[in-house]
Amino acid sequence: MFGPVRSRRLGISLGVNNIPYKFCSYSCIYCQLGRTINKTIKRRAFYKPEDIINSVIDAVKRLRKIDYISFVPDGEPTLDKNLKSEIDGMKKALDIPIAVFTNASLLCIDEVREALYQADLVSIKVDAVSDSIWKAINRPHLKLEIGRILESIREFVKSYRGKVISETMLVSGINTVRESLREISRYLKDLNVDVAYISVPIRPPAERWVRPPSYFELIQAYETFKDSLGENKVKLLNMPEDYVTHLAGEPEEYILRTTAVHPLRYEHAVRLISEHDKDPNEVIDKLIKRGLIEIVDYLGTKFIIRRFLPKNNNMTKKNKKS
Ligand code: SF4
Repeated sequence: MFGPVRSRRLGISLGVNNIPYKFCSYSCIYCQLGRTINKTIKRRAFYKPEDIINSVIDAVKRLRKIDYISFVPDGEPTLDKNLKSEIDGMKKALDIPIAVFTNASLLCIDEVREALYQADLVSIKVDAVSDSIWKAINRPHLKLEIGRILESIREFVKSYRGKVISETMLVSGINTVRESLREISRYLKDLNVDVAYISVPIRPPAERWVRPPSYFELIQAYETFKDSLGENKVKLLNMPEDYVTHLAGEPEEYILRTTAVHPLRYEHAVRLISEHDKDPNEVIDKLIKRGLIEIVDYLGTKFIIRRFLPKNNNMTKKNKKS
C-alpha cells in the first residue's frame, strides 16, 4: 500500500499494491517498473486478503481525506485471485469508492469480471486495437489475443454499473500514426467511456529507446480523439501528478491548468489575456521562457501545450517539420 498521492484522475488516492513486483500479462515497452520478470496469465493468491484489507483500514484511520482507494499495483491487479474478496472487504468496512487500474487483458475470465463489478471505477488500458501495434507496444503473453480482449472489454462495459475510463499511452512512432489513433478513438467511442485519457511516458521507460510523442503527435492524438469522442471526454495526462503552478494572475494560471489537460488554441489564450488587460505576447513569452509551455503549429492552427519534453528535444523538432 502507498500514498495517499494526488492522482491526476482521482484526487487524493490511497494506492493498494496487491501484486508482487512485475507479475504481469504484458511487458509494455514504456512500463515505468521495467521489463516484466514474471509474464503470466495464471491467477493466484499472492497475499492474505485480510492483510491487505486491514492495512487499508489502518491507513484510512490515520488519514483525513481519501477520495479513492486505488488498486494500482506493481503488476496487473486482476492476476490476484483474491481481488474480489479484497474489494468486498474494503467496501464492507469503509465508505470510500474503489478504483482498479487494469490492462484489461484478463477480462475474458468470469472471476475477473465478477471482481471488477464490485469496484466503483475501472480504468482500462487501450494502447492499440490492431494486433501488430498491440504486440509492439504491450508485448503481451503469447496466449493472449487482442480480438478477444477487445470483445471482452465490450462485454464487461455493457453490464458494468460503475464508471469506466480508459488510458492510452502514446509512444512516438509506435501508436501515434493517425490511422491507429482513429481506430482506437472509434473503439473507445463505441465503448462510451466516461473519459479517455491520453498519456505520455514521463518516467523512465522499460526500454531506453522509447520516446514520448512529439507535441505535434500529441495534439494530433488529442484532436483525433476529440473528433470521435467529444471534447468533454478526452483529457491529456502529460504532467506529473504534483504539478503546482504557484503563479499569481488569473490568465497564467488558466493557461497552465487548461494546457495540463488539453491543448489550448493560441487565439483563445490571446483573447483571454487581453480581457485581463495584460499584454498577451508578454504573458505567453514569459511562460515559454520558464519552460512551462510550448507553441505548436498543428495543420495551420497555433496551439499552446504544456511542456513535458526537455528543451532541445531533437525528435520534437524533427516531427514539427514533418
Ligand atoms: S500493463 Fe502496466 S504493469 Fe504491466 S507491463 Fe504494462 S505498464 Fe507495466
